[in-house]
Amino acid sequence: MNRLIIALMFLAPAASGCGEQPLTPAPVPSPLGGPEPPPGRADHPILLKPERVFDGQEAEPHADWVVLIRGDKIENVGAPADVSSPKDVRVIDLPGMALLPGLIEGHSHLFLHPYDETPWEDQVLKESQALRVARATVHARALLLSGFTTVRDLGTEGAAEADVGLKQAIERGIIPGPRLLVVTRAIVATGSYAPKGFAAEFAVPQGAEEADGEALRRVVRSQIGRGADWIKVYADYYWGPGSDAKPTFSVEELKLIVETARGAGCRVAAHATTKEGMRRAALAGVETIEHGDLGDAEVFRLMKERGVALCPTLAAGEAMARYRGWSGDAPAPASVGTKRAAFKTALETGVTILNGSDIGVFAHGKGARELELLVDYGMKPADALRSATGIGAKALHLDNRLGMVKPGLFADLIAVEGDPTREIGALRKVRFVMKGGVIHREPKE
Ligand SMILES: [Zn+2]
Repeated sequence: MNRLIIALMFLAPAASGCGEQPLTPAPVPSPLGGPEPPPGRADHPILLKPERVFDGQEAEPHADWVVLIRGDKIENVGAPADVSSPKDVRVIDLPGMALLPGLIEGHSHLFLHPYDETPWEDQVLKESQALRVARATVHARALLLSGFTTVRDLGTEGAAEADVGLKQAIERGIIPGPRLLVVTRAIVATGSYAPKGFAAEFAVPQGAEEADGEALRRVVRSQIGRGADWIKVYADYYWGPGSDAKPTFSVEELKLIVETARGAGCRVAAHATTKEGMRRAALAGVETIEHGDLGDAEVFRLMKERGVALCPTLAAGEAMARYRGWSGDAPAPASVGTKRAAFKTALETGVTILNGSDIGVFAHGKGARELELLVDYGMKPADALRSATGIGAKALHLDNRLGMVKPGLFADLIAVEGDPTREIGALRKVRFVMKGGVIHREPKE
């Protein structure tokens, strides 16, 4: 190995982050040598004084807690008398506000924008990658400023591996955005996904990567090699006679995906709306099931037994119904009623809920809508908040680094007006956003 190659190895940012990811800004190669400090981080400690603190774990907020931040971490939390302030501390008062861990969005599409602006198929087939990336940078900022500091993006939908570059741009401080977990293209069974309905002689670009059987091993490895943190697979989709939702991959194929991903320390998320798709995905060992619209008690019990979390995407379900003409006041269409019933069953069964909305189907920056619906569909506000903080972090295996207001964790913190444990709508009033000790939004703005 020559010296140039060795030098490049040290300079190259770690593209793939399966397993234990650094989740810190990647070192930026500088022409003057040495990594740059992350832009925007204060060189002095910061003391936050909110009205109350929701710590991401306990249902009741702590009145009068203060939080001390040094560098990119939380150094201390508790009553003012128990948290000694260093001399050079900057104090930020957050009167009337609740401080809570930065929110987690478990299911986003940064490369999509609302379908009532442009249908999905036109975004995939007619929008250039440059246009889509430009939009994605705006979406990343909107997500962060609306309080989401960690986001799992579940597929670029035809924008190749642009999510990996977007993540690097955020990590290097080039653009503001949340911590990203990315999957690149996602995996679908041949013939099952979209766009479809074109003359068979045309090769139409697809919204995800097709693979089947033994070839799944190569595609999983190739996506990991290109920077996927998670693998996303479509365990069912609308295809075949009648074009209703049907399972795609066999249990054996899904197991092959999970086993290959695990070999690299990667986890698998499965899109599944049918009971059979959910059952196969849970048996194969995926970690999260996305949507779960037609789940029943039996399949939710299987998920609970196997430790599979549900990412319900309630907000996207409602958005789609509105795009089809539902006003929101009229009786809910069947699709919304079905989803509501399935979610109620999931709650009764005790399945872990990971907050995830499918944001991108509706506007980036409106992610609080999912938490409002989690409550509207039957969760207590504190439980909904946990699914986007402590519990959400655990489901994504990030709980040793974020998701709670606790010493030693990343200083990913937001403040909202009011008390979201009483009124979840307070999440729409985000006034302060900090990610890794860097302030991105302050009350005076
Ligand atoms: Zn999605």
